[in-house]
Amino acid sequence: ADRPKNIWEMVLSAASRNPDGDALICGERRLRWRDVVPQAAQVSAGLRNKGLQHGDRIALLLGNRIEFVLSMLAAAHLGLVTVLLSKRQQKPEIAYVLADCGAKLLLFEAALADRLPDADDVPDLKHRIAVDDDAMLSEFLEFADWAPLEETTDVDEEHTAMILYTSGTTGRPKGAMLAHCNIVHSSMVFVSCLKLTAADRSIAAVPLSHVTGIVANITTMVRCAGTLIIMPEFRASDYLKLAARERVTYTVMVPAMYNLCLLQPDFDSYDLSSWRIGGFGGAPMPIATIEKLDEKIPGLKLMNCYGATETTSPSTIMPGELTARHIDSVGLPCPGARIVAVDADGRELPRGEIGELWIASASVIKGYWNNPKATAESFTGGFWHSGDLGSVDTDGFVRVFDRQKDMINRGGLKIYSAEVESVLAGHPAVVESAIIAKPCPVLGERVHAVVVTREAVGDEALRAWCAERLSDYKVPETIVLTSEPLPRNANGKVLKRQLRETLAAL
Ligand code: ATP
Repeated sequence: ADRPKNIWEMVLSAASRNPDGDALICGERRLRWRDVVPQAAQVSAGLRNKGLQHGDRIALLLGNRIEFVLSMLAAAHLGLVTVLLSKRQQKPEIAYVLADCGAKLLLFEAALADRLPDADDVPDLKHRIAVDDDAMLSEFLEFADWAPLEETTDVDEEHTAMILYTSGTTGRPKGAMLAHCNIVHSSMVFVSCLKLTAADRSIAAVPLSHVTGIVANITTMVRCAGTLIIMPEFRASDYLKLAARERVTYTVMVPAMYNLCLLQPDFDSYDLSSWRIGGFGGAPMPIATIEKLDEKIPGLKLMNCYGATETTSPSTIMPGELTARHIDSVGLPCPGARIVAVDADGRELPRGEIGELWIASASVIKGYWNNPKATAESFTGGFWHSGDLGSVDTDGFVRVFDRQKDMINRGGLKIYSAEVESVLAGHPAVVESAIIAKPCPVLGERVHAVVVTREAVGDEALRAWCAERLSDYKVPETIVLTSEPLPRNANGKVLKRQLRETLAAL
């Protein structure tokens, strides 16, 4: 059977199977599959000319654009490890990731130059290369003396392809190491479960710098040799226009994006009849949204995909024809995946009982970069501890009810309370704080802070303090200031449930 060993082999296979098909479309630019290989190889040559070698980390601080895809494919070609940064991260967050992974080279959006860390903070970072608006990695193109590069690659399937940083209860982001085999496996799962072919056309509406962008969008379209239409920035009205004009067939987005599309007053004027698969994940989808989409786009199969960065995207998929019958479930374990609910001691619970979901599969990563402690805490015998509370029913369907991890899910973007609380704690007027979720019909949840202060301070000043240090979506949108201590249990743990109830009663 055709089982590629690594990401680059998937690219070569797409180029040989569908050379003339559209591969990547972004604005006016279109690349066919036959163009992707030489263009990515050109970037590989540029990277190699910078002295980078197998295993070296390169970081991307790029928005959704063709260069993003070419750079990650080129890195895969050379056996470099691509580390992803988000356009929304602020300087201290970017500095932390670059220093932690020891990246030697950074490709950054020219407009984001003021977010780059000082040289002293990132001693390993030898090269900073700006990618500007109309040039394709122009600095690389200056090399006249490229040695011709082998098109093939011998990167081992267990080799780390990418590092994606995820936050956690400690507040310090952890680098999830995605191996080539994890990404290849997940891409094959999407293609086989969703029956994707070279005729499929997808829109990358989510940020490419997250696991959904990488796997559900980029590498899945590589695997089926279909077409990926890249949106630089998601806007619901642009999405609908593009989906109708480009005759899109398949997308995976977060529920908030579907909600925003449905809020468009002219939704009914778009011809979305080509759209056959609407994957969603990253957050729970309101049942009302599913029902409305079913009614408005009858040919669209909505498929719940439950997963995480640590599972290289999907660990369950809901077969579209079963969505209506199992509306409260996230679907069935993907081929080869094992999902169990466990009790507080990590013992498997009988079917139907609620516990923490643990997931094992060929897509589950081996661990976190340079962080054996976090790896030991989160992985046991090939299972990743999800921190989600759910059950596996007798018929095999998985349900997700709540979570143990202290996290806010704002339209699919995750905010770990500990990270925001520790930034607030650094403000001189703040004694302590608690970050909680405030329900929102469109985004699911928004960030709310209860802040105990020792001296007068305005909530605007606290928000500005956070905005300099944290990605925009992590900044508390609403703040309640108080001089009373936070409610705690006998062990000293803040009673967040009580704070959420107080907020709901306001
Ligand atoms: P991305 O980083 O691209 O947003 P992601 O949301 O799948 O991808 P993470 O940010 O690692 O990955 O978040 C994983 C968490 O998101 C899960 O542990 C769960 O809490 C929540 N989640 C993911 N998919 C679903 C879903 N279909 N339904 C409910 N919750 C989900």
